[in-house]
Amino acid sequence: MTPLRFIIVGGGLGGLAAAHCLGRAGHNVFVFESASRIGDVGAGIQVSPNLSRLLIKWGLGEDLRKASVKPQAITFRRYETGHRVGWTKWGETMDRDYGAPYYHVHRADLLDMLFKLSSPYMTLFLKSRVVSLDPDLCQVTLESGQKFRADVILGADGVKSMVRAVVVGGPDRPMRTGDAAYRAIIPTSEMRKDSDLKPLVDHPEMTGWIGPGRHIMGYCIRGGLEYNLVLLHPDRGSSGEAYDMPGSVQRMKADFEGWEPRVQKLLELVSTTLIWPLFDRDPLARWVHPAGKLALLGDACHPMLPYRAQGAAMAVEDAAVLGVLFSHVTSRHQIQPLLHAYQALRHSRTTRTQLEARQNQTIFHLPDGREQAARDQSMREGMEDALRQERGEPSIYGSAGNANVWADRTKNRIQFLYDAEEAAERWWKTSGRWEIVTDEPLVFKL
Ligand SMILES: Cc1cc2nc3c(=O)[nH]c(=O)nc-3n(C[C@H](O)[C@H](O)[C@H](O)COP(=O)(O)OP(=O)(O)OC[C@H]3O[C@@H](n4cnc5c(N)ncnc54)[C@H](O)[C@@H]3O)c2cc1C
Repeated sequence: MTPLRFIIVGGGLGGLAAAHCLGRAGHNVFVFESASRIGDVGAGIQVSPNLSRLLIKWGLGEDLRKASVKPQAITFRRYETGHRVGWTKWGETMDRDYGAPYYHVHRADLLDMLFKLSSPYMTLFLKSRVVSLDPDLCQVTLESGQKFRADVILGADGVKSMVRAVVVGGPDRPMRTGDAAYRAIIPTSEMRKDSDLKPLVDHPEMTGWIGPGRHIMGYCIRGGLEYNLVLLHPDRGSSGEAYDMPGSVQRMKADFEGWEPRVQKLLELVSTTLIWPLFDRDPLARWVHPAGKLALLGDACHPMLPYRAQGAAMAVEDAAVLGVLFSHVTSRHQIQPLLHAYQALRHSRTTRTQLEARQNQTIFHLPDGREQAARDQSMREGMEDALRQERGEPSIYGSAGNANVWADRTKNRIQFLYDAEEAAERWWKTSGRWEIVTDEPLVFKL
């Protein structure tokens, strides 16, 4: 194995995971982060089995378990009545069917875990915004004017990535999706005082209220001490392109006026909120710069709406694949083919996930009418089958294409059973090591 020098632009969830995976593989890793500290906003994040599997393998199982809540199910409710239209069992079923747990966590706790994991393996530069980079010299320039060189540069600088513009060879701005998210956290001690809200804490589930042009996702985090709310609504464009700006609680309440009583009670408990306009981009054809030493990962190459709860999972999977591939590197000539192998291994999976998240935007936000009634009927059929199985009866319903994507067993298997490290190792054993063994420059065949 040849130790290489890696520069990672961005110390978010994807950048830190990559620092861990590459550092652990024996490389020298330098992370440049524009913020003055490693931290995240006050909000929750869903950790699906394809992500928890990796974190557990990396030794975070106990930390993760302590910091999280294991939701027992996902429930969809009508916005104005609160009636349940969809239900899929999670909890231990996730462990049993997909081999790893589904968790709800605070973003800051997850980032903290990845920071602790990566710290021994990286040199971290905070307050170090990368303002330009030269893909041929493999060199970054910071705002301060300092320049750093490496063998490989990875752009993990999020949805508004500047590295991406270098890879695609021109200005490349993220697209507004038409939606924005209010985010808020409520102490569950307040919810327990209300008999309508208490069940949301006592029986933790991922509850989705769906209505025309809007939806709400609510779930417990921090061992059940806090309730995380994400309130998706039409983006009025008022907050420019910044994320996590303080939002107006009054406006948030007005946005969800007329929604069922539990929603109104939850909103009464919110004292501050963040507003987060949602951007995404079309799937990108090229993640690797033609010079062969620069590649993208995470939201920088495949940002997606959070409606499949997979953005962070995809970023960490990218990092895991890079870690495995570069654990086999024996010559600098292998850098380019390995980066192409990385893209080939990841592209179709992340593209499919991006498109599935967009599809959920349409499904969740249907106006009341025929299509909405058909959606609810589909969700209900999935729910009835799930309840049948709960009673110990056999499943008699083909779940493929259910409007509740979490009821679709085929899609779940594709999404949740996947082990990114195993996939990369399998590729290496079956073809990679035969194709990438030379000391000569070589172009990897897709
Ligand atoms: C409302 C919402 C809910 C979500 N819920 C989920 C969920 O439940 N589950 C899930 O898996 N995903 C979820 N996601 C998606 C997830 O947050 C992202 O996919 C994930 O954070 C991407 O990680 P990243 O490291 O690629 O980018 P980021 O987390 O955006 O990190 C990028 C980092 O790069 C730094 N940076 C930027 N530019 C520069 C520069 N020029 N120089 C140096 N540093 C720079 C930034 O400061 C930042 O730290 C959600 C997203 C949103 C908006």
